[in-house]
Amino acid sequence: MSAKQPLQVTAIPAFADNYLWLIHDGQHAAVVDPGDAAPVEAALASLNLTLVAILLTHHHADHAGGVAALVAGRKVPVYGPARERIAGVSVLLSEGQSVNVPSLGLNLSVLDVPGHTAGHIAYVAAEQRWLFCGDTLFAGGCGRLFEGTAQQMTASLQKFAELPDDTAVYCAHEYTVSNLRFAVAAEPGNAEIAARLDDAQQRRARGEATVPSAIGLEKQTNPFLRYREPAVIASLQASGRLDNDDPVAAFAALREWKNSFR
Ligand SMILES: [Zn+2]
Repeated sequence: MSAKQPLQVTAIPAFADNYLWLIHDGQHAAVVDPGDAAPVEAALASLNLTLVAILLTHHHADHAGGVAALVAGRKVPVYGPARERIAGVSVLLSEGQSVNVPSLGLNLSVLDVPGHTAGHIAYVAAEQRWLFCGDTLFAGGCGRLFEGTAQQMTASLQKFAELPDDTAVYCAHEYTVSNLRFAVAAEPGNAEIAARLDDAQQRRARGEATVPSAIGLEKQTNPFLRYREPAVIASLQASGRLDNDDPVAAFAALREWKNSFR
């Protein structure tokens, strides 16, 4: 067996732009949102890790599609949202509950964050200041409202905004550059957004990931956490997308705009 290391998070790239997150200590591992089993198996083998837990945020196949293959021949708990039906889930979770992975010394609390899907949950490691938010919050953006409402999504994102600023945001997709291009359009006068876009483009040009992000950075640069800002409201109104100053209407208008932004 390999040597035990401090608990860390490793990105496993999958599909075109997904990140599956591996939480490990050099011996044991938990995986978040394994949409595909093959790259997870490859990472476990190359790092010589034993899989001890699977954590799911929502039911979409690019997050849960690898579960059946991963649990075959293993006795591993599969945690998932209580309000969604996902094959293979053995422990149903909702806000107020927590997950303890003894072999990793890992404790995660659960948040209900509906919006992208109706039962979406997120996991917070308070001690390590890690957030695993699935497709709810992205670097510079947020998930599409497939099953929930703008009202629900604003409440969900507010829970993330209340986490400490240095909380690392482990989102599930590399969408940062396109999100920040939209953020520049939504809030043109924000120099921090422009600087972040530049940084993200340089990282992608070097073939690097732009995630994890951090809650503080998201609060400064993510329009979906900044929809109450007068500058964002003003650009929505100036482009004819909003005719009032209701925050939830502003969020909904912003999300609609992003859906068609190129
Ligand atoms: Zn999704």
